[in-house]
Amino acid sequence: MSEYIKATSPTRDKPILAYKIGDSLYLNITNRCSNTCIFCPKFEDYNLLGNDLFLEVEPTFEEVMAAIDEPTGIAEIVFCGFGESLIRLDLVIRIAREIKRTFGYPIRINTDGQANLFHGRNIIPELTGLVDSISVSLNASDAASYLQLSNTPFGLDGFRGICNFIIDAKKEIPIVIASVVNVHGDDLDACRKIAESLGVLFKVREFK
Ligand code: SF4
Repeated sequence: MSEYIKATSPTRDKPILAYKIGDSLYLNITNRCSNTCIFCPKFEDYNLLGNDLFLEVEPTFEEVMAAIDEPTGIAEIVFCGFGESLIRLDLVIRIAREIKRTFGYPIRINTDGQANLFHGRNIIPELTGLVDSISVSLNASDAASYLQLSNTPFGLDGFRGICNFIIDAKKEIPIVIASVVNVHGDDLDACRKIAESLGVLFKVREFK
Protein backbone atom coordinates (compact mmCIF):
# COMPACT_ATOMS: atom_id res chain seq x y z
CA MET A 1 0.00 0.00 0.00
CA SER A 2 1.10 3.53 -0.56
CA GLU A 3 2.45 5.40 2.40
CA TYR A 4 0.55 8.21 4.07
CA ILE A 5 2.16 10.84 1.87
CA LYS A 6 2.70 14.39 3.02
CA ALA A 7 2.57 17.00 0.29
CA THR A 8 2.61 20.77 0.28
CA SER A 9 -0.32 22.12 2.17
CA PRO A 10 -1.04 25.34 4.01
CA THR A 11 -1.17 25.01 7.76
CA ARG A 12 -4.54 25.60 9.32
CA ASP A 13 -6.29 24.99 12.61
CA LYS A 14 -9.10 22.78 11.43
CA PRO A 15 -9.04 20.07 8.74
CA ILE A 16 -11.71 20.15 6.05
CA LEU A 17 -13.71 16.96 6.58
CA ALA A 18 -16.81 17.97 4.59
CA TYR A 19 -16.85 20.28 1.57
CA LYS A 20 -19.53 21.31 -0.86
CA ILE A 21 -19.17 21.31 -4.65
CA GLY A 22 -22.34 22.02 -6.60
CA ASP A 23 -25.19 20.26 -4.85
CA SER A 24 -23.01 17.50 -3.42
CA LEU A 25 -21.44 17.37 0.03
CA TYR A 26 -18.13 15.51 -0.10
CA LEU A 27 -16.56 13.73 2.86
CA ASN A 28 -12.79 13.69 3.29
CA ILE A 29 -11.95 10.81 5.64
CA THR A 30 -8.47 9.67 4.62
CA ASN A 31 -5.46 10.62 2.52
CA ARG A 32 -4.37 6.99 2.24
CA CYS A 33 -4.78 5.23 -1.10
CA SER A 34 -4.49 1.69 -2.35
CA ASN A 35 -3.02 3.13 -5.56
CA THR A 36 -0.37 5.75 -6.33
CA CYS A 37 -1.71 7.17 -9.59
CA ILE A 38 0.83 9.03 -11.67
CA PHE A 39 -1.69 11.77 -12.56
CA CYS A 40 -2.88 12.42 -8.99
CA PRO A 41 -2.64 16.12 -8.07
CA LYS A 42 -2.24 15.33 -4.35
CA PHE A 43 1.44 14.51 -4.73
CA GLU A 44 1.97 18.22 -5.43
CA ASP A 45 -0.89 19.88 -3.64
CA TYR A 46 -3.94 18.75 -1.65
CA ASN A 47 -5.97 21.76 -2.75
CA LEU A 48 -9.17 20.89 -4.61
CA LEU A 49 -11.19 23.86 -5.87
CA GLY A 50 -10.16 25.92 -2.88
CA ASN A 51 -10.50 23.08 -0.35
CA ASP A 52 -7.32 21.98 1.37
CA LEU A 53 -7.91 18.24 1.82
CA PHE A 54 -4.68 17.43 3.61
CA LEU A 55 -5.29 15.47 6.83
CA GLU A 56 -2.66 15.54 9.52
CA VAL A 57 -4.68 12.90 11.39
CA GLU A 58 -7.53 10.77 10.11
CA PRO A 59 -10.88 11.88 11.55
CA THR A 60 -13.12 9.92 13.88
CA PHE A 61 -16.79 9.13 13.33
CA GLU A 62 -17.76 11.92 15.71
CA GLU A 63 -15.57 14.45 13.91
CA VAL A 64 -17.00 13.59 10.50
CA MET A 65 -20.58 13.75 11.75
CA ALA A 66 -19.88 17.13 13.36
CA ALA A 67 -18.48 18.38 10.04
CA ILE A 68 -21.59 17.15 8.20
CA ASP A 69 -23.67 19.03 10.76
CA GLU A 70 -27.21 19.52 9.41
CA PRO A 71 -26.69 19.94 5.68
CA THR A 72 -29.18 21.81 3.52
CA GLY A 73 -29.31 22.56 -0.19
CA ILE A 74 -27.62 19.33 -1.20
CA ALA A 75 -28.76 16.41 -3.32
CA GLU A 76 -26.30 13.76 -2.14
CA ILE A 77 -23.39 12.99 0.16
CA VAL A 78 -20.24 11.61 -1.43
CA PHE A 79 -17.24 9.84 0.07
CA CYS A 80 -14.39 11.36 -1.90
CA GLY A 81 -11.22 13.17 -0.96
CA PHE A 82 -7.59 12.75 -1.88
CA GLY A 83 -7.64 9.20 -0.57
CA GLU A 84 -9.49 5.91 -0.88
CA SER A 85 -12.44 6.00 1.52
CA LEU A 86 -13.04 2.24 1.40
CA ILE A 87 -9.71 1.66 3.12
CA ARG A 88 -11.67 2.88 6.16
CA LEU A 89 -14.57 0.54 5.42
CA ASP A 90 -15.92 0.33 8.99
CA LEU A 91 -16.05 4.11 9.23
CA VAL A 92 -17.75 4.45 5.83
CA ILE A 93 -20.43 1.95 6.90
CA ARG A 94 -20.98 3.66 10.24
CA ILE A 95 -21.23 7.15 8.72
CA ALA A 96 -23.45 5.96 5.84
CA ARG A 97 -25.79 4.25 8.30
CA GLU A 98 -26.03 7.42 10.40
CA ILE A 99 -26.61 9.63 7.34
CA LYS A 100 -29.42 7.35 6.18
CA ARG A 101 -30.95 7.26 9.66
CA THR A 102 -30.71 10.99 10.27
CA PHE A 103 -31.04 12.69 6.89
CA GLY A 104 -31.89 10.06 4.29
CA TYR A 105 -29.69 11.63 1.61
CA PRO A 106 -28.50 9.46 -1.29
CA ILE A 107 -24.91 8.32 -0.75
CA ARG A 108 -22.23 7.92 -3.41
CA ILE A 109 -18.73 6.52 -3.10
CA ASN A 110 -15.97 7.51 -5.51
CA THR A 111 -13.43 4.71 -5.37
CA ASP A 112 -10.37 3.26 -7.05
CA GLY A 113 -12.14 -0.13 -7.04
CA GLN A 114 -9.37 -1.96 -5.19
CA ALA A 115 -11.30 -2.50 -1.95
CA ASN A 116 -11.93 -6.21 -2.44
CA LEU A 117 -8.25 -6.80 -3.11
CA PHE A 118 -7.25 -4.54 -0.22
CA HIS A 119 -9.53 -6.26 2.31
CA GLY A 120 -9.16 -9.73 0.84
CA ARG A 121 -12.91 -10.32 0.56
CA ASN A 122 -15.96 -9.06 -1.30
CA ILE A 123 -16.97 -5.99 0.72
CA ILE A 124 -19.87 -4.98 -1.56
CA PRO A 125 -22.59 -6.78 0.47
CA GLU A 126 -21.57 -4.63 3.46
CA LEU A 127 -22.60 -1.54 1.47
CA THR A 128 -25.97 -2.92 0.36
CA GLY A 129 -28.85 -0.65 1.32
CA LEU A 130 -26.49 2.11 2.43
CA VAL A 131 -24.81 3.21 -0.80
CA ASP A 132 -26.96 4.40 -3.71
CA SER A 133 -24.26 4.87 -6.31
CA ILE A 134 -20.61 4.06 -6.76
CA SER A 135 -18.18 5.57 -9.23
CA VAL A 136 -15.17 3.38 -9.91
CA SER A 137 -11.98 4.80 -11.48
CA LEU A 138 -11.38 2.38 -14.33
CA ASN A 139 -8.77 4.59 -15.98
CA ALA A 140 -7.49 2.01 -18.47
CA SER A 141 -8.67 -0.67 -20.83
CA ASP A 142 -6.06 -3.32 -20.02
CA ALA A 143 -4.00 -4.57 -17.11
CA ALA A 144 -0.63 -3.25 -18.26
CA SER A 145 -1.92 0.28 -18.91
CA TYR A 146 -3.74 0.27 -15.58
CA LEU A 147 -0.62 -0.78 -13.73
CA GLN A 148 1.42 1.91 -15.44
CA LEU A 149 -1.10 4.65 -14.55
CA SER A 150 -2.09 3.58 -11.06
CA ASN A 151 1.02 1.85 -9.69
CA THR A 152 -1.33 -0.58 -8.03
CA PRO A 153 0.44 -2.79 -5.49
CA PHE A 154 -1.59 -5.70 -6.87
CA GLY A 155 0.36 -5.64 -10.12
CA LEU A 156 -1.34 -7.00 -13.21
CA ASP A 157 -4.12 -8.43 -11.01
CA GLY A 158 -5.19 -4.89 -10.12
CA PHE A 159 -7.15 -4.33 -13.32
CA ARG A 160 -8.98 -7.65 -13.11
CA GLY A 161 -9.71 -6.77 -9.47
CA ILE A 162 -11.42 -3.55 -10.57
CA CYS A 163 -13.48 -5.30 -13.23
CA ASN A 164 -14.60 -7.93 -10.70
CA PHE A 165 -15.37 -5.16 -8.19
CA ILE A 166 -17.60 -3.46 -10.78
CA ILE A 167 -19.36 -6.76 -11.53
CA ASP A 168 -19.95 -7.37 -7.80
CA ALA A 169 -21.10 -3.77 -7.26
CA LYS A 170 -23.63 -4.06 -10.06
CA LYS A 171 -25.36 -6.89 -8.21
CA GLU A 172 -26.01 -4.80 -5.08
CA ILE A 173 -25.72 -1.06 -5.76
CA PRO A 174 -28.38 0.74 -7.82
CA ILE A 175 -26.06 2.96 -9.89
CA VAL A 176 -22.54 1.89 -10.90
CA ILE A 177 -20.32 4.11 -13.03
CA ALA A 178 -16.92 3.31 -14.50
CA SER A 179 -14.96 6.54 -14.86
CA VAL A 180 -11.80 7.56 -16.67
CA VAL A 181 -9.61 10.59 -16.15
CA ASN A 182 -9.05 12.28 -19.48
CA VAL A 183 -5.26 12.15 -19.48
CA HIS A 184 -4.85 9.58 -22.24
CA GLY A 185 -7.50 10.39 -24.82
CA ASP A 186 -6.59 7.61 -27.23
CA ASP A 187 -7.75 5.00 -24.68
CA LEU A 188 -11.17 6.48 -24.05
CA ASP A 189 -13.06 4.44 -26.63
CA ALA A 190 -11.45 1.23 -25.41
CA CYS A 191 -12.36 2.14 -21.81
CA ARG A 192 -15.93 2.87 -22.86
CA LYS A 193 -16.12 -0.58 -24.44
CA ILE A 194 -14.89 -2.20 -21.22
CA ALA A 195 -17.55 -0.31 -19.24
CA GLU A 196 -20.21 -1.40 -21.72
CA SER A 197 -19.04 -5.00 -21.56
CA LEU A 198 -19.37 -4.82 -17.75
CA GLY A 199 -22.88 -3.40 -18.17
CA VAL A 200 -22.30 -0.12 -16.29
CA LEU A 201 -22.42 3.58 -17.08
CA PHE A 202 -19.29 5.30 -18.40
CA LYS A 203 -18.03 8.75 -17.50
CA VAL A 204 -14.99 10.76 -18.57
CA ARG A 205 -13.62 13.09 -15.88
CA GLU A 206 -11.49 16.04 -16.86
CA PHE A 207 -7.95 16.17 -15.53
CA LYS A 208 -7.50 18.90 -12.92
S1 SF4 B 1 -6.72 6.66 -6.12
FE1 SF4 B 1 -7.34 8.82 -6.40
S2 SF4 B 1 -6.52 9.91 -4.62
FE2 SF4 B 1 -5.49 7.92 -4.73
S3 SF4 B 1 -3.58 8.27 -5.84
FE3 SF4 B 1 -5.14 7.64 -7.33
S4 SF4 B 1 -6.08 9.54 -8.11
FE4 SF4 B 1 -4.98 10.02 -6.20
